[in-house]
Amino acid sequence: MSRDPHSLLAALYAGNQRFVSGAIESPNRHAGRVREVAASQRPIAAFLGCADSRVPIEIIFDQGFGDLFVTRIAGNVAEPAIIGSLEFGTEVLGAEVLFVLGHTRCGAVTATMQGADVPGQISTLYQHIRRATRESGGDIDVAVRRNVEIQAEVLREASPVIARRLKAGSLIIAGGVYDLDTGLVVPVDV
Ligand SMILES: [Zn+2]
Repeated sequence: MSRDPHSLLAALYAGNQRFVSGAIESPNRHAGRVREVAASQRPIAAFLGCADSRVPIEIIFDQGFGDLFVTRIAGNVAEPAIIGSLEFGTEVLGAEVLFVLGHTRCGAVTATMQGADVPGQISTLYQHIRRATRESGGDIDVAVRRNVEIQAEVLREASPVIARRLKAGSLIIAGGVYDLDTGLVVPVDV
């Protein structure tokens, strides 16, 4: 497989198409691949996705061991520890695609929009999502898309390491929204 960032992004979308159409190949999920990547890894993409149990990144893109460097957090928010992890996945491990993936009916986005009273530390997520909900006109689908755009913006602006690789063209940033009903990832311009 070519390591050109745009080809790698296209390969991810091809994997999602296989998943949606039921023609999955489950690549790189055999014991040989486990051994192959045991000593070193070079994932093709680093992901910022939601922790939602219905959005397992490797499965929806039909990928396997050693392919994706995945961070998941409720609301797919780019908070500091997540940014550090994504810097590791891109700068140190060499992933060429940085992908921010939201999903329809996201509980964290919905709760932020409603300003729901929640126990424990849950509300600390709100501060990262509030701008998206404010700019959504009260539409959850718009808020989810806007949240993807804003988190991508945070990654570009808060990380000189990521910004440098984007400028050099050795990394591209991509966004998408996973549809819980169809399994399809719809691209979002970021
Ligand atoms: Zn979610």
